[in-house]
Amino acid sequence: MEKRNHHPETVCIQGGWNPGNGEPRVLPIYQSTTFKYSSSEQMGRLFDLEEDGYFYTRLANPTNDAVAEKICELEGGVAAMLTSSGQAANYFAVFNICSAGDHIVSAATIYGGTSNLFTVTMKKQGIDVTLVDPDAPEEEIEKAFRPNTKAVFGETIANPALVVLDIEKFARLAHKHGVPLIVDNTFATPINCRPFEWGADIVTHSTTKYMDGHALTVGGCIVDSGNFDWNAHAEKFPGLTTPDDSYHGVIYTEKFGKKAYITKATAQMMRDLGSIQAPMNAFLLNIGLETLHLRMPRHCENAQKVAEWLSAREDVAWVNYPGLKDNKYHALAEKYMPSGSCGVISFGLKGGREAAGVFMDRLKLAAIVTHVADARTCVLHPASHTHRQLSDEQLVEAGVDPSLIRLSVGIENADDIIEDLRQALEQ
Ligand SMILES: *Cc1c(COP(=O)(O)O)cnc(C)c1O
Repeated sequence: MEKRNHHPETVCIQGGWNPGNGEPRVLPIYQSTTFKYSSSEQMGRLFDLEEDGYFYTRLANPTNDAVAEKICELEGGVAAMLTSSGQAANYFAVFNICSAGDHIVSAATIYGGTSNLFTVTMKKQGIDVTLVDPDAPEEEIEKAFRPNTKAVFGETIANPALVVLDIEKFARLAHKHGVPLIVDNTFATPINCRPFEWGADIVTHSTTKYMDGHALTVGGCIVDSGNFDWNAHAEKFPGLTTPDDSYHGVIYTEKFGKKAYITKATAQMMRDLGSIQAPMNAFLLNIGLETLHLRMPRHCENAQKVAEWLSAREDVAWVNYPGLKDNKYHALAEKYMPSGSCGVISFGLKGGREAAGVFMDRLKLAAIVTHVADARTCVLHPASHTHRQLSDEQLVEAGVDPSLIRLSVGIENADDIIEDLRQALEQ
């Protein structure tokens, strides 16, 4: 696809799908598992990665590719792929460059699902993780690196701890050790932050959140900046720099250049693990993306009002929102996301864990759902819901206070959201 250098607003609307004369104006759903060819030899070349083309939707589908291209353009990357979920995106992003015996360094303050993936499931596959305090000084974090470290991982804005990652610091550390920085940019979205501009090499998304924005479809995306020089650290990444026997000895970096990482993820991860996003879901995701640039500023504006209102209340013990001036991460948020962070706020009531439950049950507009980053305001108590597999110790390590209420501020009228919170607190 030709690069058109448009502003993000235009990319949200028109990116990824550039129809020719007489073709559908709207991205069609290629609702087909397979694609027809008239020569068996050509089909053979497709299987050998000798030629570009669609042949089976588990590997690639035109609807998915158009949506991946839009997200790629929004992030300023060179190649991207959709996955069936954010979990699959983070798993593939790491597993694409790690095997048994390898090690990764990750910020401790990450999403509970990713934390489980790294510390439990990937550990069983022989990949070790060291969780680090993202706020620790560089020299301290550096101690986590080992000769077999293959990647560094963090979230732009941690879910639900709302820790803002010092992307430049993490990129510096990763690059000093010859490995890429992978950043999960789910909460900020490329509307508010483009991690590649600060040195990140690979970006992942749970598109389930703001990108979809309407709580319709679970999905994920991996975007490669094309900036990491795999050949400069060839001994660390043999999967990219030495022949792949499962594709007649293709060497990804040689044959695909800047697209090596995503091509390998498609050719190996997707082929073998099969977590493709349904084209129908990609179509719905695309509709969400068309308004991402309108929704994000509204989420941030509403969240700012709600956070300030909560901060002024006697019955509220603490409020965590990077947009608040006295927030620990305000300076980092101003630096990396000057036009706003996200719509998610966390706070605790003076009544603690117990009061949280009572308060949530009284809410009328805000619904209790296992979701976040949705057009509709919603709440969750991580200690009793998403993070219930974690011990109290792990909760604290992940930056989640047991009393923490995660409030995902929607794009309704802010006064109505505040009124709902007021009646629930004052009842
Ligand atoms: C939700 C979420 C995920 C997991 O994504 P799913 O689409 O639910 O699989 C990963 N990272 C972050 C930051 C998330 O918020």
